Amino acid sequence: MKGRRGFRHIYGFFIILIMITASFSAAYFIVSYIFRLFGFASSNYIQHLVTTVLGFFIFGGTGFIIGKIIRSKQRNLFQEVIDALRRIARGDFNVQLETLKREDPFTTLIDHINHMAKQLKEMEELRQEFISNVSHEIQSPLTSIVGFAQALQYDELTNEERSHYLSIIETESRRLSKLSDNLLKLTSLESEHHPFERKSFRLDKQIRNIILACEPNWVEKELEMDVSLEKVNVVADEDLMSQVWMNLIHNSIKFTPRMGRICIQLEQAAGNAIIKISDTGIGIPKKELVHIFERFYKVDKARERSKGGSGLGLSIVKKIIEMHEGTIFAESEEGQGTTFTITISPL
Ligand code: ADP
Repeated sequence: MKGRRGFRHIYGFFIILIMITASFSAAYFIVSYIFRLFGFASSNYIQHLVTTVLGFFIFGGTGFIIGKIIRSKQRNLFQEVIDALRRIARGDFNVQLETLKREDPFTTLIDHINHMAKQLKEMEELRQEFISNVSHEIQSPLTSIVGFAQALQYDELTNEERSHYLSIIETESRRLSKLSDNLLKLTSLESEHHPFERKSFRLDKQIRNIILACEPNWVEKELEMDVSLEKVNVVADEDLMSQVWMNLIHNSIKFTPRMGRICIQLEQAAGNAIIKISDTGIGIPKKELVHIFERFYKVDKARERSKGGSGLGLSIVKKIIEMHEGTIFAESEEGQGTTFTITISPL
């Protein structure tokens, strides 16, 4: 950068040198021609003096004209930049200023404005997508609540029908409540203002407690639980980490058919705590695997609806792991099962 600036100074110096030479040469030829034309036979001194004065005029005039052209071009560019900023302020992010070939602070400013407009446009698209996803997630349970509430008004319903409809209304209401809970949690985590308190605790004990808390769910599906947990101490936010295991273990139970197997391992390797949660469930198709941590992403929309998912669980998990500077990745074979591997540094 410094080298380039030095080169520009030398280049400018040469341009001025050429302009001076050209101006004084032009003045010399013009004065000689006029003197010859009108037959003035004045002294060399007068001719040199007139040449010098004319040379200065030509040099000054050319500089003035070139300066004016450059300034008007710059004024145009400034106007374009101001117009672009006005459009951005109005919320129109389809702004792309023409980039300049030269290298100066103005070019850097234009590049930054283009970059800012692009980023704002992406954020706006994400916001729109988020709103449409939330509306959709709210709309479907509400439709079914309204439908079944209306159906309940018929007098000739049997007791079984009535309690079936009521249980659907209850499930859908719970789903709405879970959705708002997850949304609040995710928004809070992403706002960077979420309380984050690291303290030392036994990770193996925490995971074991979550497995026990989920016991009614895996017992009901007659799932085999294969648990092997090394004693590992970590320094992390206990509540947030508990949410991670809760979401992952719940998913494993949810997506594994009856009599399946869930394997949970914790070990310490190369100074890191490594946790693997595998199941023999329905698995995730390869092309979907890259999307599962996105907000609202569900592999099979219709099937997940019946299971009461909102597609936010894994986004929350990923965010928490990132806050702990850890990593998470999933491997899966459709119809065979899925394994989530989480690595976190114990400190
Ligand atoms: P949801 O609340 O719908 O479970 P998640 O964010 O937890 O949302 O998961 C996103 C999607 O990833 C799920 O809808 C499901 O399709 C897929 N998925 C997550 N965990 C598993 C798993 N253990 N086995 C199969 N599919 C899974």
